[in-house]
Amino acid sequence: MDAYSLIVIGSGPGGVSAARAYLSAGGAGPVLLLTADDDPPYQRPPLSKEALRSADAQALTPIDDDLADIEVRLSSPVAAVDLSRRWIRTAAQEIGFDHLVLAPGSHPALLPDLPSEADWHVLRTAADLRRLTTAAGQARTAVVVGSGFIGCEAAASLAIRGLQVTLVSPEIGPQQKRLGDDPSRAITGWLTSLDVRLLLGVEVSGVEAPRRVHLQNGTTLEPDLLLLALGATPSTDFLASSGLVLDEGRICVDRRLETSTRGVYAVGDAALAQHAVAGRAIAVEHWGDAEAMGTVAGRNAAGGSEVWDTVPGFWSEVGEHTLMYAAWGDGWDRLEVVEDGEAFTVWYARNDVLVGVLTHEHEDDYERGRALIAGGASLAAALSSG
Ligand SMILES: Cc1cc2nc3c(=O)[nH]c(=O)nc-3n(C[C@H](O)[C@H](O)[C@H](O)COP(=O)(O)OP(=O)(O)OC[C@H]3O[C@@H](n4cnc5c(N)ncnc54)[C@H](O)[C@@H]3O)c2cc1C
Repeated sequence: MDAYSLIVIGSGPGGVSAARAYLSAGGAGPVLLLTADDDPPYQRPPLSKEALRSADAQALTPIDDDLADIEVRLSSPVAAVDLSRRWIRTAAQEIGFDHLVLAPGSHPALLPDLPSEADWHVLRTAADLRRLTTAAGQARTAVVVGSGFIGCEAAASLAIRGLQVTLVSPEIGPQQKRLGDDPSRAITGWLTSLDVRLLLGVEVSGVEAPRRVHLQNGTTLEPDLLLLALGATPSTDFLASSGLVLDEGRICVDRRLETSTRGVYAVGDAALAQHAVAGRAIAVEHWGDAEAMGTVAGRNAAGGSEVWDTVPGFWSEVGEHTLMYAAWGDGWDRLEVVEDGEAFTVWYARNDVLVGVLTHEHEDDYERGRALIAGGASLAAALSSG
């Protein structure tokens, strides 16, 4: 059986940064990175933004990491992991490891009971983008189902491409549940200024092939293109019989991002990790945090003893509008909005302790907010320190 000092599963930011950090920290080779993806490592955030907007949507932005000394095998999904014998299995072979970093990310959630002949799209991979842009090139109308970040970004990008877009969501406003009423109103304004039609507070009751969308209020839509943006599910089915502790599909890890099996780590979207500063387990689905977690896990696999301690955050672009958001992401009970013309900052608190900040055109509040959240500042302190 072939064997490697480190095997990494996944070529997203979590996997690539783990492999890189392991070698940079002096970890012994050889290192093998296995990915289900058919394309060399690339950045996902542009897929719903500039790559979808532009007519030349085929160009991918590579992950700008030095992959020298790392053996990368594309189109190689791992089917199973045996922790006691320390090997993984692909369709072709079993491969042994000393250290293992699990970074399989997540995949798009789907509507229940989609007929097999229905013609729908999701947006997670470069292959999804190629299919979607080919379809968009021949479409006049589109329905996007879901008003999370990817749904809002993709609806805006498709509208900028010239499609007549309808966004359908059970939420009463885009991102209303996660971000609150005021930011939701701002996003609504940005989408409607691009002529995106919003059908809110309504569920999809069914889809008929090829693309007839029935809503619970009796409305039927028949777009040329149907995009499902319903959130993501951790890609951890292959770990079902591994013995690893999973919580709602996420791999549970400690502050060092190690599972209960020594030398086996999990990072990124698929991890539920103890956060050294938050003092509890949190789940994040952000590019920069997967990268940061990968770096911690890679260094620890090389013999380090680091903890995950950065406040999670990300940027979103709805058309030409940028939102910057940093938060623990597990709920708030009060928010305060500070407006300054078109610009605004929203401060989120739970039990009066600052737990999040969202800002549009106030970049300094994002960095300041992150530091305040990390320090456990009160909402009052955040409001008075501006
Ligand atoms: C369209 C889009 C836009 C986004 N925009 C933003 C943004 O603006 N800002 C932001 O912070 N975040 C954004 N995100 C989220 C961000 O991309 C993810 O949080 C991040 O990619 C997670 O990184 P990861 O390494 O955990 O997993 P992923 O990037 O999902 O990578 C997982 C990898 O594992 C591989 N894999 C899965 N299962 C297996 C298996 N069994 N065997 C082998 N390989 C496997 C996959 O092929 C893939 O290579 C966006 C996501 C999407 C889809």
